[in-house]
Amino acid sequence: MAQRTLTGRCLCEKVTYQVDLPATEPEPKVILCHCTSCKRYTGSSFSSNLVLPQPSMTYTQGAPKIHLCPSDRELPVRREFCGDCGTPLTSQPGDNQSIIIVKWGTLDDEHREWCGTLGAEIYCKRRDEWVGEIGSVRGVEGMK
Ligand SMILES: [Zn+2]
Ligand SMILES: [Zn+2]
Repeated sequence: MAQRTLTGRCLCEKVTYQVDLPATEPEPKVILCHCTSCKRYTGSSFSSNLVLPQPSMTYTQGAPKIHLCPSDRELPVRREFCGDCGTPLTSQPGDNQSIIIVKWGTLDDEHREWCGTLGAEIYCKRRDEWVGEIGSVRGVEGMK
């Protein structure tokens, strides 16, 4: 079966992963989560995610650390991150192990365009007010 492959890595590059999507799987879209756990987990206002069928994601180098995060669901959310540099890599609802949620920002550059369409925003009650202003103010080019 034809598969489409995405790869990604943490900031220090000790942990790398690969996603092999079956040909039947539609192009994944970006899901933003504004929940308070994601704010803390990412250190940002929201998390950017790809919700993918599991087992499509495997680690190709290194091993992440695991944090079981209490949630508003019955079972804790499993969050995997690099223990050396702290990069958040995945989250997975405890009650639905048929999906894996990959943090979009950890994708390698060449894969961003293909699955770079915004699909949905969740936990919008926690959406910070300034988020809607992204794109409306002058941008400054950075390093990378
Ligand atoms: Zn790392
Ligand atoms: Zn969240």
